[in-house]
Amino acid sequence: MGSRSTATSDPLTRVLRTRRELRAALADSRRPVGLVPTMGWLHEGHRSLFARARAENASSVATIFVNPRQFNEAADYTQYPRNEARDLTMCRDEGVDLVFAPSVDEVYPTGFDTIVHVGAVGRPLEGAARPGHFDGVATVVAILFGLVKADRAYFGQKDAQQVMVIRQMAGDLAIPTEVVACPTIREPDGLALSSRNVHLSSEERAAAPVIHRALMAGRAAWDRAERSADPIRSAMRSVLSEEPLAVVDYVSAADASTLAELDRLSTPALLSVAVRFGSTRLIDNELIDPS
Ligand code: AMP
Repeated sequence: MGSRSTATSDPLTRVLRTRRELRAALADSRRPVGLVPTMGWLHEGHRSLFARARAENASSVATIFVNPRQFNEAADYTQYPRNEARDLTMCRDEGVDLVFAPSVDEVYPTGFDTIVHVGAVGRPLEGAARPGHFDGVATVVAILFGLVKADRAYFGQKDAQQVMVIRQMAGDLAIPTEVVACPTIREPDGLALSSRNVHLSSEERAAAPVIHRALMAGRAAWDRAERSADPIRSAMRSVLSEEPLAVVDYVSAADASTLAELDRLSTPALLSVAVRFGSTRLIDNELIDPS
């Protein structure tokens, strides 16, 4: 891994290591272009984004880059799972045209000195729990948007606040790339696919579907015509408290467009939770739309 310095010659999927190689390959690409940014260790969630990008665009670009600037814990960055060879196999299987898999220095060359900071929508929830995380996300996605100049970029609703941060950033910076949110792909037991799931022990893996059960309990309360947010949050907490391995970071019922915590659910609401199982922190959410 990492020994190739030039674009590989796969007839279908080309792997680019440098900004220059990427620009040259894009110059030959048919439009519209669909972009899927990832940190690798690809799973079926990523695959669904590749399939969508391919279906809706003439050319598809995946990026594989474990972005050090979005990790607020050094150990989380060093332990983040990586397997580029396997990732490239999935990209080829899905017919992704270009894969940009740069080094850290290629993304942040010597002298790089800009941080993209998104305001209110980046502050609560993941923004509060992981200081600096969304600055890292917004900065790297702004770079990728600038490099690829995609017509559309595809992100998972699993990271709902991330989609909101990126939409705000792209709108404010007049980046014309359309930000497309795609459904969360889950295991049969409801656990949202995540690269971090690989870190779960077998006991933790067996416990982790409690996250989705908690979100479903929140939705069930809504379905029973509960409109006060506190009982909905309590319903989610109550399910999580039944699982001894689950350590709750937050349980939220927030306005889906501002992420402000709600008293009553009248506008679209985002139920979201962050839970630790040992050293692995998982997030998930459920969108409730009164209309
Ligand atoms: P990551 O590699 O974790 O940074 O994720 C890359 C993209 O895949 C992000 O837009 C994620 O929201 C999305 N993604 C991650 N997990 C899932 C999932 N289970 N279903 C759908 N999209 C996902």
